[in-house]
Amino acid sequence: MHRATKIVATIGPASSTPDILLKMIRAGLDVVRLNFSHGTADDHRQRAEMVRDCARQAGREVAIMADLQGPKIRVGKFENGKTMLEPGKPFILDAECELGNDERVGLDYKDLPRDLKPADVLLLNDGLLVLDVVRVIGSEIHTTVRVGGELSNNKGINRQGGGLTAPALTAKDMEDIRTAMSLSVDFVAVSFPKNATDMEMARQLANIAGAPYGVKPKMIAKIERAEAIPALQEILDSSDGIMVARGDLAVEVGNAAVPALQKRMIRMARESNKLVITATQMMESMIHAPVPTRAEVSDVANAVLDGTDAVMLSAESAAGKYPVQTIEAMAAICVEAEKSEQSELDKDFLDRTFTRIDQSIAMGALFTAYHLGAKAIVALTESGSTALWMSRHWTHVPIFALTPRVGSERAMSLYRNVTPLHLDTSNDRDTALQQAIEAVVSKGYAARGDMVVLTVGEPMGQPGGTNTLKIVRVGDVF
Ligand code: PGA
Ligand code: MN
Repeated sequence: MHRATKIVATIGPASSTPDILLKMIRAGLDVVRLNFSHGTADDHRQRAEMVRDCARQAGREVAIMADLQGPKIRVGKFENGKTMLEPGKPFILDAECELGNDERVGLDYKDLPRDLKPADVLLLNDGLLVLDVVRVIGSEIHTTVRVGGELSNNKGINRQGGGLTAPALTAKDMEDIRTAMSLSVDFVAVSFPKNATDMEMARQLANIAGAPYGVKPKMIAKIERAEAIPALQEILDSSDGIMVARGDLAVEVGNAAVPALQKRMIRMARESNKLVITATQMMESMIHAPVPTRAEVSDVANAVLDGTDAVMLSAESAAGKYPVQTIEAMAAICVEAEKSEQSELDKDFLDRTFTRIDQSIAMGALFTAYHLGAKAIVALTESGSTALWMSRHWTHVPIFALTPRVGSERAMSLYRNVTPLHLDTSNDRDTALQQAIEAVVSKGYAARGDMVVLTVGEPMGQPGGTNTLKIVRVGDVF
């Protein structure tokens, strides 16, 4: 079954044995997310090695995304591990408190009191608890509990409406970038960026740390702060893609605003030729249950219809009981949703002009393949740009991207409707094209007599060199 939408899954305790991971890859896992909010550098190293081993066994490339913790603001620890917050009662967040009790708790971000004023609203533990700020005295934030419940060690804090000034990259993030680069990860997800500068800084650090390993990761901006919304275009321009990080975003902007924002973010990402991942709670009930709820099925399907490159799993695959079944279920929902999706080519093409030859060839190939009824598009690509441009517009024609570069091959695992394949560099152009067509035929996408559209650069081997569009009938000799 051809599936265009990709699946990103976080791995953790529930999915860190080779047996389960291999099953997840066979079930359709395309990109593994290593969550740097949990675990040691050694844990990540072991998991990255396991991913590479299992991918080799499965016979295909799987990309790795390192997700940095970022300046997530958290309460400290409690004497008893937790306390019970009662509505209407006072509670103090105190930057100088070492160990919390029923009256107060510490903060890992010592400057938080300076960012707050009376009447600010604080949301704790993903918005489950709500505190109203009454006054700030030195290191102490005095609040009244509006919505109570249990508060335990290290739960997150957000301010409603955003506006906390913690810098986007912490000392831990910088260290984690170095670890991630030594693992040759393909993507780095930056948490809580508020503007282009945050992303540029992260990219610079990653490129410097990656240089000894020959790694230049693609940078994904997690959109999860209120301030990131007005800055969306500049963040897109400075990133390779974004994540609709619905967990923190919902806390800052309110749950109800998120679905419309998701649609806008996905549309803007595609129009800007950038990637987009839709994340958080997509299959949440499958942490405990072997089947999803109807609402979850609709959520995943709607993200597909919005045009997301990928849907993402967090706790479902990292700590849930059914990591393999969750991927199977997600894959099936994607396939079904894609069938009903309208091709969007014509309206996309009306007002476009291109300045680049390779981009024009990519768009020409897509247009031709769609209107000619070609069974597949085959792009011979170095950097993957041709495949990226083509995959920003939805047609039902599958795109096969052949590249000699393993980094490009892995990165393209995230691109919607793109199947990356390895190209042998020793081949001349005609042999390479023949190999490409054979790959498409052997996978059952085209048979003798079917039309296939090819793009290639002449001479071969130069990034950005795509300048040729060729249409062949399977079975004809070159
Ligand atoms: P997280 O990011 O899982 O690292 O918090 C995703 C989100 O906030 O939705
Ligand atoms: Mn988050």
